[in-house]
Amino acid sequence: MLTTAAALEAVLAATPSFSSVRVAASDACGRVLRQVVRAERDQPPFDRVMMDGIAFAGSDYDDGLRRFPIQAMQAAGDAVLVLEKGHCIEIMTGAAMPANANCIVPVEHITVADGAAEIEAGYEVARDRHLHPQGSDYAKGAYLLRPGKRVSPLDIAIIASCGETEVDVAADPVIHIVSTGNELVPAGMPIEPQQIRMSNGPAIKALLESHGYRRNEHTHVSDDLDALRAHLALHLKESDVLVLSGGVSMGQADFVPQVLAELGVETIFHKVSQRPGKPLWFGKGPDGQLVFALPGNPVSALVCSRQYLIPALARASGADATPPAFAALAARIVFPPELTCFQPVKLISNAAGQALAMPVKTNTSGDFAALSATDGYVELPREQSEFPAGTAVFLHRWIAH
Ligand code: AMP
Ligand code: MG
Repeated sequence: MLTTAAALEAVLAATPSFSSVRVAASDACGRVLRQVVRAERDQPPFDRVMMDGIAFAGSDYDDGLRRFPIQAMQAAGDAVLVLEKGHCIEIMTGAAMPANANCIVPVEHITVADGAAEIEAGYEVARDRHLHPQGSDYAKGAYLLRPGKRVSPLDIAIIASCGETEVDVAADPVIHIVSTGNELVPAGMPIEPQQIRMSNGPAIKALLESHGYRRNEHTHVSDDLDALRAHLALHLKESDVLVLSGGVSMGQADFVPQVLAELGVETIFHKVSQRPGKPLWFGKGPDGQLVFALPGNPVSALVCSRQYLIPALARASGADATPPAFAALAARIVFPPELTCFQPVKLISNAAGQALAMPVKTNTSGDFAALSATDGYVELPREQSEFPAGTAVFLHRWIAH
């Protein structure tokens, strides 16, 4: 059976590249940048004053001057004044340094009387102190953001500071989620004792949204061959990515692989050596659509979404690869089956500042209530069946950071 590493590799190899779109900078947060953002000007763009106080010439100070007639006031945004010899200019934080001035004394260390400012006795004056020199952060034209960066609120500040009102980002893919199962009833509908609330559709949709993919829709279809054919034909045509939940196991009503084959979706793999999520099916549609058919068990569906679907979307968006994360197991785990184990965990930390992964038991891959307390899951290699406390393992968080 396919290993988890080979399955992820096969998914990424089948993944196309989404096109780029130009969006308003205000809509760019969470999207993957497809352009370089360069500095519009030097930063700071002028010699910037960092204190409220006075500015004067060091040569006057060297000549013994300690009391300076105030020539003028220059606030942030004011045009640069030319300082006259033997004078000072009152300056405000964020103002440009007046021409001919090279010393600043903060307002706390001066006294102002009769139109002149006097420096406190014993205050040590130094040239260029409290000054943020032009270009000292970066020069005009510097590459501040590069393609592949997922735009954060901090990057929004950079984009605005570069004077950009629009940026190129990866197009948001159209994703259709189709859940299947006769036993499933959505919230808001009357339910019989033998029926189950349908939760995978809303959960997968929310997971996608929390990773920045907003163009998702969810439809529920019963385990009926004709209904499945009609829905999948329609949604396949309209989507970049189709995500199915349920109907990929060996039961009599598990029609999904058959219907996908009829619609010309090429099977890339069916079944991965993992728990949960062994029945995972993955294929590619006639127009290059990615098709993920997830097992219906809620824990399996979420783990498979996070493990395969989210990385595929990130790759297709051109997002920078995220470096692997690790955590040390907080407790021993024994897992005898020869399968990779994706064990849900809660992250805690110890007094040494280490991230520890505390296993959270889910009774079956259908028991998803316990997942709420977890931050993600750890990946336990299939070659091993015993993992002592302290073992360093790969960590996959549900939500990206
Ligand atoms: P299946 O993969 O279709 O055999 O489903 C496996 C188990 O997961 C069954 O017990 C289903 O009732 C349950 N299940 C399937 N789909 C969903 C869903 N969308 N929401 C909640 N439970 C589901
Ligand atoms: Mg089913």
